[in-house]
Amino acid sequence: MLTKDEITAKAQECGFGTLGVTTADPFLSQQKILRERAKEYQWASRSGLDLMAGTDPKNILPDARSILVLMEVYFKESYPSVLERHFGRCYLDDDRVTKDRLAKRIKAFRSFLRDQGLQSQVPFHLPHRLAAARAGLGTFGKNCLFYSNQLVGRGSWVLPIAVVVNREFEPDEPTLTVGCPEWCRNTCLVACPTGALKGPRHIDPYQCISYLTYFGQGLTPRELREPMGLWVYGCDHCQNVCPRNLPWLAKGLPVNLKVAAMVEDFGLEKLLHMDAPYFNTRVWPHMFYMSDKELWRWKMNVARAMGNSLDDRYVPDLARAWGENQDERVLGMLAWALGRIGGREARKALNEVRNKSEGLVLEEILAALDNG
Ligand code: SF4
Ligand code: SF4
Repeated sequence: MLTKDEITAKAQECGFGTLGVTTADPFLSQQKILRERAKEYQWASRSGLDLMAGTDPKNILPDARSILVLMEVYFKESYPSVLERHFGRCYLDDDRVTKDRLAKRIKAFRSFLRDQGLQSQVPFHLPHRLAAARAGLGTFGKNCLFYSNQLVGRGSWVLPIAVVVNREFEPDEPTLTVGCPEWCRNTCLVACPTGALKGPRHIDPYQCISYLTYFGQGLTPRELREPMGLWVYGCDHCQNVCPRNLPWLAKGLPVNLKVAAMVEDFGLEKLLHMDAPYFNTRVWPHMFYMSDKELWRWKMNVARAMGNSLDDRYVPDLARAWGENQDERVLGMLAWALGRIGGREARKALNEVRNKSEGLVLEEILAALDNG
């Protein structure tokens, strides 16, 4: 009979830091949260994710008996700072499309289970962080993230992966607590630039930069443009300011060479001018929440980041992008970015397009000329 020690040894052989076990009982506290905050989770059902169904492992595997939680570290190696300032770290080495790294290791682990006569499922919609806490692998942060109790200096740079199986194993002691020190005084809540953290472990996803960068609708509201800063896809701010993450951030980690090779393709200028073939071959395989139908959002985010850089070397690119785009959401942000950078060349570029523009775009140009 397969033992927990043998499963743990296999998980480690497959490259996972730790493994914990919890029961296949429903996640009742999550059901309560989903009911109470229904409006805040509407985005999930719009994306085809039935989070309520994911709270009962038996909806995933009818004969579910245990959940094995694998702990993956996504920040083992360092990333170039030029990428870290624009992209969330968890997306930089994501292989959910290329399936050449993590996906292969999950497959190897599941093949092992299958060879031992176990059925398994790795669902997207199960509350993975809650499963990890129930499996005793760490505690919560007030920023809604999960902190390992063993890995990455007990930090939050981990991805719990819940594997539902049809055999019962002895569950680990749950660690369902918030592990933040009193003296921190809610640093993340105060530091969140868009005010998305409403209280300990309570996020309004619609105000979170991560959500806004890949699912935000329409031209980004003016009051959010400066707070969203340099982020183009995702946001790590509430993790970067967290004292629980300092030990790992202080480490001298080896460079992730695969990600370092992406620097040129992910330069802001390249992203601002990219076309669909460029996006589909160089960008989408790494960051896939938006399709090539949503290039407008990529370009709007890039233009906003360029504007917030206050770097006038971007003015010629912002001006050139005018001739490459018709979407008013992109044009509106190009105007805003030129106004934010300001100066003679930016004003010249705005004046050149002023008489050819109308409606929302003209409004943005006039507001930008007032600023710049
Ligand atoms: S990811 Fe960014 S925007 Fe979202 S809660 Fe954290 S700091 Fe706020
Ligand atoms: S910043 Fe402070 S309150 Fe927020 S998660 Fe970190 S330790 Fe907790």
